[in-house]
Amino acid sequence: MSDIAGNISKIQQRITKAATDCNRNPESIRLLAVSKTKPASMVQEAIAAGIHDFGENYLQDAMEKITALADTPDIHWHFIGPLQSNKTRIAAEHFTWVHTVDRLKIAQRLNDQRPKDLPPLNICLQVNLDHEANKSGKSPDELPALASAVSTLPNLKLRGLMTIPQKRQNKEAQRACFQQLTDLRDQLERSLGLTLDTLSMGMSADLEAAVTAGSTIVRIGTDIFGPRE
Ligand SMILES: *Cc1c(COP(=O)(O)O)cnc(C)c1O
Repeated sequence: MSDIAGNISKIQQRITKAATDCNRNPESIRLLAVSKTKPASMVQEAIAAGIHDFGENYLQDAMEKITALADTPDIHWHFIGPLQSNKTRIAAEHFTWVHTVDRLKIAQRLNDQRPKDLPPLNICLQVNLDHEANKSGKSPDELPALASAVSTLPNLKLRGLMTIPQKRQNKEAQRACFQQLTDLRDQLERSLGLTLDTLSMGMSADLEAAVTAGSTIVRIGTDIFGPRE
């Protein structure tokens, strides 16, 4: 038996404790429920428990749920998976956020394909902090040029940065890694004169460290919906 409402309440308590322990307002942290691979009925349970933001990695899987829940007001769909350039239209038309932009070409396509009757698409740039080859995300030294170019696209709203770090053994190592993303955000704000209000960082295993380092969106899948197959 899943207890989605109970799991959400436990996560909210973890966020509140982590925030108050470092003198942050818990309301400055948004809980993104990562519903990838889970059915629309589970998303509905989370909605009933007060969640409005859902993260999806696979566009086809997401579209089934977006269609099934089309009449439910006030749901925000966040795309958090790797985005291929031939799939950008679905993201541009059906999502409120895309967290994984790491190339200008993808941003330009999202900008061109965003329907004019919708507000600008909220964008985070994905940063690769671990210097892993073959992993998504821009390296920190290439970030200013990308941020500068994306910030000029009229149908996108550049909100901040996102990262998926490698696993680290302890909370202090996790926190130090997330702090690098916060520092990069601060540098971009200063050097480019941008306001970047979003740091998308922290998952089930490391949300406390992410909140301590300044996260504004934690992306939680397993600890809400249970393990994935
Ligand atoms: C799956 C996924 C999550 C959720 O991870 P959990 O460990 O299940 O909480 C968060 N962010 C991204 C980008 C993901 O792909």
